[in-house]
Amino acid sequence: MSDNDNGWAWFDETLNAGYQFGLKVDSILFRETTEHQDLVIYQTSEWGRIMALDGIIQVCERDEFIYHEMLTHVPLFAHGAAREVCVVGGGDGGMLREALKHPVDRVTMVEIDGSVVELCKEYLPSISDGAFDDPRADLVIADGAAFMAETDRSFDVIIIDSTDPIGPGEVLFSSAFYADCKARLNPGGVMTTQSGVVMIQGDELTTTVQRLGAHFADAFAYIAPVPTYAGGFMAFGWGTDNTTLRSVPADTLAVRYDQADITTRYYNPSLHGGAFAHPTYVAELLEAGRETRS
Ligand code: SAM
Repeated sequence: MSDNDNGWAWFDETLNAGYQFGLKVDSILFRETTEHQDLVIYQTSEWGRIMALDGIIQVCERDEFIYHEMLTHVPLFAHGAAREVCVVGGGDGGMLREALKHPVDRVTMVEIDGSVVELCKEYLPSISDGAFDDPRADLVIADGAAFMAETDRSFDVIIIDSTDPIGPGEVLFSSAFYADCKARLNPGGVMTTQSGVVMIQGDELTTTVQRLGAHFADAFAYIAPVPTYAGGFMAFGWGTDNTTLRSVPADTLAVRYDQADITTRYYNPSLHGGAFAHPTYVAELLEAGRETRS
């Protein structure tokens, strides 16, 4: 944080070379170096509370709905009949909250750092909004890669809500991990992944699609703008053997959305299909991955 004499300071994120993103913060509510990462929770007057891990914004009360709604409702409404869901990462509980809005039997959430869960429950309760108390929620504190290699569970939807591919999150971007996810998906299942901000981390999108393409008939990505994941569109990797899943008709999605009777502030059935349509620079990065499946 860069201090000044106005009683507040700037939180500066310098994840990416040559690009700095800052938020005005009033105070640090909590700081701890957990077993896995440096965790800080900030109070801001304009953006609500924020949690950062190793200096990188993970969740912000003001705009978290965009990311959490898009990484859950796109695969879940496309699938249409998911019973078993797995979230890898997601320690703040926002992904769990949104997934449990669907009539699923269980959401298995595999988070490596129990401190993230406990501290977000305490300091950012609005994010999980009671989701951890839902009897359908099954929280597993473990490395997601080890879990996926060893579990005998199978899933209809797998959502990778990880940190960036540095530190403990790196393994969750590997082809070996995607192979294990593939092995744990039920027929017709789909996986989605946090895949970086395209303008800044474009190679991450290309690599993710390449690696998914080695295991799935349809490796693609969709996008949404998340203001505090600064730099433009956030990409979400998409991997499935069900090649029709990406083009479920909007009227079918609308029926499923109405039947689910859930409220959303970003996702809606007409936007769903559009999230897979890309500006040329994004399409080029995506096609580069599809052409060179590794
Ligand atoms: N929305 C954020 C983003 O796009 O970067 C991700 C938020 S969520 C807090 C990321 C979570 O991934 C963290 O709680 C972190 O502890 C967890 N995580 C990182 N590596 C992991 C691993 N190998 N297995 C399971 N969870 C992991």
